[in-house]
Amino acid sequence: MKPAPFEYYAPSSLTDAVDLLAQLDADGCDMKIIAGGQSLMPMLALRVARPEALVDLRLLGELDYIRKQEDGTLAIGAMTSKQAAVDSPLVKDAQPLFHAATELVGHRQIRNRGSVGGSFAHADPASEYPAVALVLDTEFDASGHNGPRTIPAQDFFVTYMTTALESTDILTAVRFAPFPYGRRWAIQEFSRRNGDLALAGVALAFNIEAGLCRDVRIAAFGVEATAVRLTAAEQMLEGRPAQGVEFERAGKIAAAALDDPMSCIHASSEYRRHLVGVLTARALGEAAARSN
Ligand SMILES: Cc1cc2nc3c(=O)[nH]c(=O)nc-3n(C[C@H](O)[C@H](O)[C@H](O)COP(=O)(O)OP(=O)(O)OC[C@H]3O[C@@H](n4cnc5c(N)ncnc54)[C@H](O)[C@@H]3O)c2cc1C
Repeated sequence: MKPAPFEYYAPSSLTDAVDLLAQLDADGCDMKIIAGGQSLMPMLALRVARPEALVDLRLLGELDYIRKQEDGTLAIGAMTSKQAAVDSPLVKDAQPLFHAATELVGHRQIRNRGSVGGSFAHADPASEYPAVALVLDTEFDASGHNGPRTIPAQDFFVTYMTTALESTDILTAVRFAPFPYGRRWAIQEFSRRNGDLALAGVALAFNIEAGLCRDVRIAAFGVEATAVRLTAAEQMLEGRPAQGVEFERAGKIAAAALDDPMSCIHASSEYRRHLVGVLTARALGEAAARSN
């Protein structure tokens, strides 16, 4: 199938893009932003999305950057490709969990075209990114006709493929606070084929102090309408020995505490629950064994 007809715009600056979206909105136009098109193009082709206008961000070179700020925060422009993030030694060094998650996204061709901002804005529940954002307390910078604003990760992901962005907002950057040296991290997922979206996955980070788990953050993806923090497992692990038996227990608690895992032809709700338990225990073990 071919996409339904639409008007096409490619503004050449962020200011022009923000003004254009505001104007289209005021005119009552149903418009959509397009970045790398890796998720939106299939939706257009299948006519799941039928916007009257597309606003293409591809000319906004000002949103294509990877920078370390003075306070150590890593800022990534929304139009930076995922492959650029994978290839960046700065990203690998400063944000190893985000880097590892990006390596798991699709295939190289998809990472070449797909933008970092597009994945966060798309908010696919099976994407690695929302879970990583919850673990890392990522902040999102957006620009709209009311000016720029910053949205913390816990408020950004609202529900299934829905974020706090308005239709006239452009996600401009994602920012990651410094990841402390020695903090443990891991991401584990299960998918049917390499490069597929995960049936379920877990991202996590914690410290080990005097052999005990501290400041534990665990989030699951692919199981509910949006990524979820596994707070029951986090609380159970806090202050407990960083040992396999505790990790197994945390996995069981994480699985039991899930509200209502999704079900589809590839994985039942109960299977997803089982996966979260296994992947949580496995990721905790992997993170604890990490030397840095
Ligand atoms: C075969 C295949 C496998 C994939 N596997 C994975 C995977 O394992 N993990 C994963 O996370 N993803 C996966 N994806 C999705 C892929 O990562 C997409 O690149 C990503 O979801 C969207 O990025 P994009 O730049 O292509 O955005 P687009 O497709 O252009 O846009 C996606 C959505 O985000 C909105 N949007 C984009 N940029 C902005 C912005 N700056 N501001 C506001 N709104 C914006 C658009 O309006 C649209 O609603 C896969 C895709 C394919 C085709």
